[in-house]
Amino acid sequence: MNNSLIVYNTLTRKKEIFEPINAPHIGMYVCGPTVYSEVHLGNSRTFISFDVIYRYLSHLGYKVRYVRNITDAGHLENDDDNGEDKISKKARLDKLEPMEIVQKYTLDFHHVLQMFNNLPPSIEPTATGHIIEQISMVEDILMKKLAYETDGSIYFDVEAFNKEFNNEYGILSGRNIDDLISNTRELEGQEEKRNPADFALWKKASPEHIMRWKSPWGEGFPGWHMECSVMSSKYLGKQFDIHGGGMDLKFPHHECEIAQNKASNGKMEPVKYWLHANMLTLNGQKMSKSTGNTLLPNELFSGDNDKLSKAFSPMVVRFFIMQAHYRSTLDLSDSALLAAEKGFAKLMAASELLPKLKAQSESSANIDEWINNCYSAMNDDFNTPILIAHLFDAVRIINSVNAGLEKINSADLEKLQSKFNSFVFDILGLKNEDQNKTNDELMNGVMATLIELRQQAKLNKDWASADLIRIELSKLNIILKDTKEGTDWSVEK
Ligand code: AMP
Ligand code: ZN
Repeated sequence: MNNSLIVYNTLTRKKEIFEPINAPHIGMYVCGPTVYSEVHLGNSRTFISFDVIYRYLSHLGYKVRYVRNITDAGHLENDDDNGEDKISKKARLDKLEPMEIVQKYTLDFHHVLQMFNNLPPSIEPTATGHIIEQISMVEDILMKKLAYETDGSIYFDVEAFNKEFNNEYGILSGRNIDDLISNTRELEGQEEKRNPADFALWKKASPEHIMRWKSPWGEGFPGWHMECSVMSSKYLGKQFDIHGGGMDLKFPHHECEIAQNKASNGKMEPVKYWLHANMLTLNGQKMSKSTGNTLLPNELFSGDNDKLSKAFSPMVVRFFIMQAHYRSTLDLSDSALLAAEKGFAKLMAASELLPKLKAQSESSANIDEWINNCYSAMNDDFNTPILIAHLFDAVRIINSVNAGLEKINSADLEKLQSKFNSFVFDILGLKNEDQNKTNDELMNGVMATLIELRQQAKLNKDWASADLIRIELSKLNIILKDTKEGTDWSVEK
């Protein structure tokens, strides 16, 4: 490694040298989606940002246990413990079982992230799979007198917590408890709380609430923040390295997570580094399902939308996202995507030229310095836009060597090839879509030739050759079907 990795820690509000608690192991938890609707591009941006962080940490040789949950219960419509459970509501509206909603949108989420070439996390736990553990943490917080029961619901007692924990509620978001109290509207359900800043650990289920579990306090369901406190500590320990999520989760979700973990486990900080990804905007406004200002990945890939002039491929969108730092906002627009498409094509063209370059006896380019620049960019809080600028330095070198304007020796060429591929494909997670297309085209061409040869063999009454082609292809699960119009082929799954 060329220099140390530095990360911006939202908790301390500064950049810090990254020192894992138990190197080479790293525990990383990222809040996953609430699976009641299709993931939009804003959600995708956050998950792509953490995918690059996961890829880079793994590239540096760390053994990362990456936990990203699925919220399949407990997330209410409003952040202030009010309204219906998002999944229950969708199930009621669509007349489906809540688990049908969960299944449908979990599959959609996985499909979208696969299209973007995200790596799967090491563990993907669900809220409903950890109800027992959540009840047990609520019991623990109650026992420590940092929560109270009102009519079958349990609320976290922010004031009691602050007394015992040196006014630490607000440590992450910087929110002040007095502001919280004065800014909280009097809403339905709030009267159950001793203090408007208190939040639900467990909610009593009303008779019509579908998703409900037995608890020592009657039938109910966990508060939204509880699942992440429970699942992060269960799989990563009471203190772990990285907790991530979108900026909009800082308050109340992450603030409440910290308070719950401390209330249950003691004074130590549960998370060493808090990393927050910034928002994707559309026409200058946060992309958000609730306001309707959204674009779905499929609408972007198919071009079937009224916001953009044409379709854009998943890798162009991924490259576009990488062109901004994860802590900056990013606005989605036609012109920015068109520019990203051009840039991505240049990068891929250079990657295709790279294996064909011929080494000379000497080098005119300083490849070691280039490698150092790439690592410095990523080591500076995962600065992908700066890395991309350096990748374009390499594109210039590749094109000049190819044109005979610059020279590169074999040792440098080997280093350039290996690091260029690492940064572009392994770390940024890009894929050459054209190459896949070329493979498809090649396959179509080869099959057309084989079908033609078989046809000729049949015309010549050379049944043995015709059968050989069909039988050998079937061993590869390629099935030929003769129709009136000609012969079709398909790959049997
Ligand atoms: P949700 O399913 O609403 O809990 O959101 C899943 C993740 O997407 C969270 O980490 C959010 O912070 C993140 N997110 C939501 N909207 C945006 C946006 N417009 N840009 C980037 N991330 C977002
Ligand atoms: Zn969470």
